[in-house]
Amino acid sequence: MQKLREFHRQSIEDRENFWRRESQHIHWETPFHKVLDYSNPPFARWFVGGKTNLCYNAVDRWLPTQADKPALIWVSTEVDQEVIYTRADLAREVNAAAAILRGLGVRKGDRVLVYMPMIPEAAFIMLACARIGAIHSVVFGGFASHNLAQRIDDARPKVVVSADAGSRAGKAIPYKPLLDQAMKTSQHPPKSVLLVNRGLVKFDPVAGRDLDYATLRARYDGAEEPVEWLESSDPSYILYTSGTTGNPKGVQRDTGGYAVAMVASMRYIFGGKPGDTYLCTSDIGWAVGHSYVVYGPLLNGQATVMYEGLPTRPDGAILWKMVEKYRANAMFTAPTAIRVLKKHDPALLKKHDLSSLQTLYLAGEPLDEPTAVWISESLGKPVIDNYWQTETGWPILSAQPGVEVVPTKFGSPSFPVFGYDVRVVDESTGEDLGPNDKGVVAIVPPLPPGAMSTIWGDDERFVRTYFSAIPNRTLYSTFDWGLYDDDGYWFILGRTDDVINVAGHRLGTREIEESLNSHSAVAESAVVGVRDALKGQVAVGFAVLKDPAAFEGGQAQADLENDIKRVIEERIGAVARPARIHFVGALPKTRSGKVLRRAIVALCEGRDPGDLTTIEDPSALEQIKDSL
Ligand code: AMP
Repeated sequence: MQKLREFHRQSIEDRENFWRRESQHIHWETPFHKVLDYSNPPFARWFVGGKTNLCYNAVDRWLPTQADKPALIWVSTEVDQEVIYTRADLAREVNAAAAILRGLGVRKGDRVLVYMPMIPEAAFIMLACARIGAIHSVVFGGFASHNLAQRIDDARPKVVVSADAGSRAGKAIPYKPLLDQAMKTSQHPPKSVLLVNRGLVKFDPVAGRDLDYATLRARYDGAEEPVEWLESSDPSYILYTSGTTGNPKGVQRDTGGYAVAMVASMRYIFGGKPGDTYLCTSDIGWAVGHSYVVYGPLLNGQATVMYEGLPTRPDGAILWKMVEKYRANAMFTAPTAIRVLKKHDPALLKKHDLSSLQTLYLAGEPLDEPTAVWISESLGKPVIDNYWQTETGWPILSAQPGVEVVPTKFGSPSFPVFGYDVRVVDESTGEDLGPNDKGVVAIVPPLPPGAMSTIWGDDERFVRTYFSAIPNRTLYSTFDWGLYDDDGYWFILGRTDDVINVAGHRLGTREIEESLNSHSAVAESAVVGVRDALKGQVAVGFAVLKDPAAFEGGQAQADLENDIKRVIEERIGAVARPARIHFVGALPKTRSGKVLRRAIVALCEGRDPGDLTTIEDPSALEQIKDSL
């Protein structure tokens, strides 16, 4: 473990030399003159004065050596298609996409909102934005109109890029009606919508607004769009994430720091080298999809497999089939996918030649020990649990086999990653805690390259949200509980706030409550995350009705429950649909009016509700119990 410790120590104590060395793995059009400017804490500017470009580093830089090698392998079991784009093909597509965007008036610093299924055009557009210095804001295709409208209004994009439909389990999921609705309700709808028509559903283009991707693609085929060289700290993208308020936060990423961090993570954590193939099953709408479907592998000269489909269709061997066919060296997925596969025939794991696969990486939610043991024994491959957040963009805690191979412990995402000065601190004093003491996982700033540089348009909120939560010290709070043991292995023990994690998808309970409250029958509500064997957590709602007498009887309540779920699905998306909504006469609150969420969760999970001395009306808790 000596090497790993020394590597980490150097990254913190000799930060500048460490990152200067790592920065050499990307191309700088203009060299930087300073590794780090931390004169305005907690804002960190990495590689000051340097100019670079993410698209150039992901595409053009590899053309001399890899023009004919696969770069983007698209597999869709939804529409039964597989397409291999070589690096030269990718360059052609990205240049055309960049020319389309420029033709639509998109310039450096303009935002482009991407609301797309897992199709290659989504990656082309992201890289095209990077090429011309536009800032993309990808919104998960599973989100619905209210979420989309919020993000349009916050990012104020010049163009929205979308498609007629996504597909799930072979069924088309129309995107266009949700987009049209969002455009109607948003305050700042852009003038142009660029649409990829997959021919999955019929739709009526809006005259003067909707443009056909294929038509423009043909017009600009063969275009060569010049690269816009960006200052290292210029924003590359915004990615919204849920927090404790109903307003999502636009995590802003820089350019140079992100490029350097991506390559370093591919080398040291994911054990990747140019020419390797990487398979990550995340959706581009999430942080994992940004970093490890699109940017990480491509920046490191690797091929990336982009997968549209479920891990169980046509059968539970599909992920392994892709590993075999494309000789993937590493695979990255979420624990939920593995828990789903566990229910299928274990023989499916042995059906394919997995000799190319070195390691399976899992992240996005806690990896429970039984699942970790099952998959590592069934696969006979190392399994690496890595812990991070949308905000950081790459792992905070992980094994780092590219530095040194050390044993892992089930249930632990191992050790702090280079660049992160991670601590466990006391929630009420902010002091560092020692081994085996549970506290808040915090990071001593500056955050490393690649981590969020601010909240889009709201520096003050960035400081207030992330750097003011720990008392007496300016530390970045992850809002996760954790501890490390005597051997230095870390364990993550759940969130300190009201954020929940459903099948690896982060959701703010506040957002779901707002949607629930928007239903005309509901007076107020509480939404909590409750443990679930398959999805990790599910959302469960408790609603107080304005006129309970109007919904007497089982059928009336069942209909109302479904109707409220439908409203949530229409506003936020199916991921946020609560497993159950219970109707109660009152919510358990403290005397100061705060909903006692932890007590509700405890009751839902069959545990003792704990200290109830602050409760205003104990009978409200009885009602929760009775409703379950
Ligand atoms: P997201 O920003 O959607 O990636 O969600 C980040 C949150 O997911 C973290 O703050 C954790 O609560 C949780 N999380 C991510 N990875 C892990 C992991 N490997 N183990 C435990 N929790 C995780």
